[in-house]
Amino acid sequence: MIRESQAAVIAGVAVDTRHWIGGERVASTETFTDTSPIDGSVLGEIARGTAMEAAAAVAAAKAAFPGWAATSRAERARILHAIADGVEKRLEDLAIVETCDSGALLRSHRRGVMPRVAHNFRFFADWLLRLEHEDFETRGHTNHVSWDPAGPSVLITPWNAPLMLATWKVAPALAAGNTVVLKPAEWSPLTASLLADIAAEAGLPAGVLNVVQGYGAEIGDALTSHPDVRRISFTGSVPTAQRIAESAAANLTPLSLELGGKSPLLVFADADLDLAVDLAVEQYDNAGQVCLAATRILVEESVAEEFTRRFVSKASALKQGDPRDEATDIGPTIHSRQLEKIDGFVQRALAAGARTVIGGHRDGQYYAPTLLTGVAQDSEIVQEEVFGPVLTLQTFTTEDEAVRLANGTRFGLAATVATGDPERAERVTSQLVAGTVWVNCFFVRDLQAPFGGSRLSGVGREGGTWSFDFYCDLKNTVTAPKGWTNH
Ligand code: NAD
Repeated sequence: MIRESQAAVIAGVAVDTRHWIGGERVASTETFTDTSPIDGSVLGEIARGTAMEAAAAVAAAKAAFPGWAATSRAERARILHAIADGVEKRLEDLAIVETCDSGALLRSHRRGVMPRVAHNFRFFADWLLRLEHEDFETRGHTNHVSWDPAGPSVLITPWNAPLMLATWKVAPALAAGNTVVLKPAEWSPLTASLLADIAAEAGLPAGVLNVVQGYGAEIGDALTSHPDVRRISFTGSVPTAQRIAESAAANLTPLSLELGGKSPLLVFADADLDLAVDLAVEQYDNAGQVCLAATRILVEESVAEEFTRRFVSKASALKQGDPRDEATDIGPTIHSRQLEKIDGFVQRALAAGARTVIGGHRDGQYYAPTLLTGVAQDSEIVQEEVFGPVLTLQTFTTEDEAVRLANGTRFGLAATVATGDPERAERVTSQLVAGTVWVNCFFVRDLQAPFGGSRLSGVGREGGTWSFDFYCDLKNTVTAPKGWTNH
């Protein structure tokens, strides 16, 4: 039975708000308050981890590592599938808790996000069984290349798609035979705790998955500078990534960094304009709190007026409100601090000469879907990630200019191209600097594909083999033929 102060009860779902270390719930002497972006209500008091809990979690992960690494692939895969079963069984609980904690739409959690959380485990369980050792010969000697689990891995995740992003990391790390310390974001810490329960029920041995809660600035460094940590995978902002890289430098701990973006949507005059408008309006999903969001709309000048007219008509029909309501299209912004940040960007852009086509204001915890024009390529609003429902519109007259504008930021996470000309699509996509490029579509993501960013958008790739490359130490064992002598 969870004591009241150690549990959050959300829509009837009890969530333990302590850490999960070595197969046990561990309290901290201090807590922090987790509130809901929907109405500001208090969801719970969460354990506020310090260097002490970080050390305990890494020690638990270290102690559990030899056993988990030696567990057969078939057994690891079986447990990962059992975790997926548990996620599916508790899908409704996970969906409502995530919505109350992050403000993202309940209907998306039910129908898209949580089924994909389960899929993350199934995918990496199956991939593990297909991962092949490589053997080849050198002058009669056998080379055997094996995928050895790297060791305790620290996984640090953001608030905008909490369980989805966490399980992109947890699933491959566990499949590879690593043990894990997961640190979810302090603005949306709850579903990580439910995941710990589900994993334990699925038979994951104690210490293989640990969850520590707390403010990144207070617990982060103790995790990322720890000499027993063999891998750090981080999704979040550029400044935090830079701090983590400094902290990890002492041990040269390998890093995977999935960071921010300022992705473009290129709309050519030959595009299906209604499709292009749909793609543009989709960028308001999750109230714009999506790293991949194509927040810079670049439209060929000859169709800009018509595009804008149709965009305004479509975007104005979006329903903003309570994310638990099935009819809602856009929910609240995660936190008042984030709202202030968004509004600051918009007000500075307006002061610098931008014009509002729609939006540009807030209403309580909700920021209105916003489109700004009259923005210069080198302006802050075009160059910096806002992470809210704020899009800019610029025009171009030639393909070269479109590519130049698209590539003209410090980021390189994604890009979307709307065109009816396949040859143009090929020409343009080959020149774009981005980890993912979509043509006439958006957000289609297969876990087999590499995912990640160029430039300030990140280091490394996640997905399929790329995840296993990261979480394993590849070893080549060379064996001499029988009777071979060295002279
Ligand atoms: P953030 O960098 O503020 O926090 C991310 C995580 O890092 C949190 O868990 C936080 O507690 C932790 N943290 C903070 N300081 C730390 C420190 N010194 N050491 C270790 N950990 C620390 O990011 P956020 O505001 O939570 O998330 C939004 C950002 O994440 C945006 O920039 C967005 O683009 C990015 N993001 C990227 C992807 C991607 O796949 N590329 C996906 C989602 C979000």
